[in-house]
Amino acid sequence: MPGSKKIEIFARNNNLREGWLSLGNQLGENYQSWKIILNCDNCKKSINTGIKRYKSRLIPNYDICEYCFIYSQQSGEKLSDHSPKDFFVFNNNIDEEVLHHYFSCNVCNCEPIWGNRFTCEECENYDLCETCFDKLLSEGDTHINEHKINNIEVN
Ligand SMILES: [Zn+2]
Ligand SMILES: [Zn+2]
Ligand SMILES: [Zn+2]
Repeated sequence: MPGSKKIEIFARNNNLREGWLSLGNQLGENYQSWKIILNCDNCKKSINTGIKRYKSRLIPNYDICEYCFIYSQQSGEKLSDHSPKDFFVFNNNIDEEVLHHYFSCNVCNCEPIWGNRFTCEECENYDLCETCFDKLLSEGDTHINEHKINNIEVN
């Protein structure tokens, strides 16, 4: 490649790298973000980029904003019976969804995984997209309750 040694064909604003030729149809300042903005299940305000998101490990699609989480810590008021360890923590710093190349979801088989990836610390090659994580949670899946599942936000 002229002027660069490597090529990124799925370039997005968040994965531009020096020395790489970046191609992609989702680049540029006018590119409209398609990331889904969630609302806090406590205060109902939107959890915008830059505000940490606390996602429940116990209740599907239950998300708390950074402010409500900190307030509950300080006041000792529990959020729907959750302890701090019952939440995944997302820094939520990237204004676009992320692609996890070479990872496929063990339930819906999508590859790459878009958005957030959930991976089992104890099983090799066990990854889930967020939709399927919530689906398994709602079905009372024993594996995700018994094994340590980590959230991967950035690839
Ligand atoms: Zn809130
Ligand atoms: Zn999936
Ligand atoms: Zn496992």
